[in-house]
Amino acid sequence: MAQAMPSRSPLIGTRPPVAAQKEISRIAEMRGVHSAFLYLHNQEMEFRRWQREVAETPAPPFGEATRGEWLRSRFSSLGLEEVQTDDLGNVFGFLQKDFSQPAVGVSAHLDTVFPMGTRLETREEGTRLYGPGISDNAAGIVAVLAVASALKRAQLHLAANIVFIGNVGEEGEGNLRGMRHIFATTPWKDAIHSLLVVDGAGTDTYVTQALGSRRFEITFRGPGGHSWSDFGIPNPIVLLSRALARFSEVVVPESPRTTFNIGVIHGGTSVNSIPASATARVDLRSASMEELHKLEDRLRECMNEAWSEVPLPYRAGDPKLRFAIELIGDRPAAELAPDARIVQVLRGVDAHLRINSIARLASTDANVPLALGKQALTIGAGGDGGGAHTLREWFDCSNRDLGLKRILLTLLTLAGVDE
Ligand SMILES: [Zn+2]
Repeated sequence: MAQAMPSRSPLIGTRPPVAAQKEISRIAEMRGVHSAFLYLHNQEMEFRRWQREVAETPAPPFGEATRGEWLRSRFSSLGLEEVQTDDLGNVFGFLQKDFSQPAVGVSAHLDTVFPMGTRLETREEGTRLYGPGISDNAAGIVAVLAVASALKRAQLHLAANIVFIGNVGEEGEGNLRGMRHIFATTPWKDAIHSLLVVDGAGTDTYVTQALGSRRFEITFRGPGGHSWSDFGIPNPIVLLSRALARFSEVVVPESPRTTFNIGVIHGGTSVNSIPASATARVDLRSASMEELHKLEDRLRECMNEAWSEVPLPYRAGDPKLRFAIELIGDRPAAELAPDARIVQVLRGVDAHLRINSIARLASTDANVPLALGKQALTIGAGGDGGGAHTLREWFDCSNRDLGLKRILLTLLTLAGVDE
């Protein structure tokens, strides 16, 4: 997941409703749930082996197939139903046979930020595992698998099905393509009403607000020419610079927090040539879709203003002279209603397990179902972690089972269960 920040959600500090608490206590006392908890506690060494295997299986953006195949074969050997991989590489397995009934989903992204060829060695020191992607998101994949395995053994009678998902395309240029595909094309896109996204380590936060982002590549083009003999023709680097200088002065609100960044710029060929093109990449982010669109409008205005300063004979007369703005990344902003059931359930579970957690704002796979009006939350896989997106990444396995119990109890409460 991308970096998270505290949410301004009004939920912080309020108590979970009594009804949810009672239901959670009832479920936690079931014999099948006890044995599932015991399994999650006792299998820690096995989970570590899985986690190292996952992290050592490459899964660069757009190259998740081998890791997906690893997960698919695990789902099959657990005896999950309807185990399959879709045409994008998302992997699915259902707890119960009828996969058209309403379902609660639990997902972990398969992809890492590490390009093909990165040395994916892992090592273990005490309770710590080290290796690129060991926490983000090998820990999440292990959590989904561990909970699937525990629930499969527990043989409980659920009112709704549970679908376990390993999805592609969460990081960077993946642009949430896996999740988009799941909620746009799969046969169960409507059946999944709630989704728990497991991303990275920890038990101390939950993401209720989806940070939206829109990314653009903006380009100015001209005929190009010689710095001396063609002097005076419009210069795309100058036009781009003017547009960006204007845009950099935009005032963004602190709440809902809104930011922008000009991250990449290139253009031109040599110091004595008037360039034929100049390009920049701009990242816009906000917790509010409205603010995001306002910022985008301003970016377009700034380009238009820079363009309008080009002398008319050039603007009208030379087809080589033009500008373009291209959308290169798009993640919807959205927010759960304060009384959303999934939040009440998670907070009830946290109270039951004596977990202190706070609501956060981040960009995760949950952006997609949230923007569709579904209920979705992102939480960690337990344990502790750090160094995400670096080669020094680590995961501390201590008390991992607390995070796994949290996921299991949340899923069961959302699905509804009788012994
Ligand atoms: Zn992640």
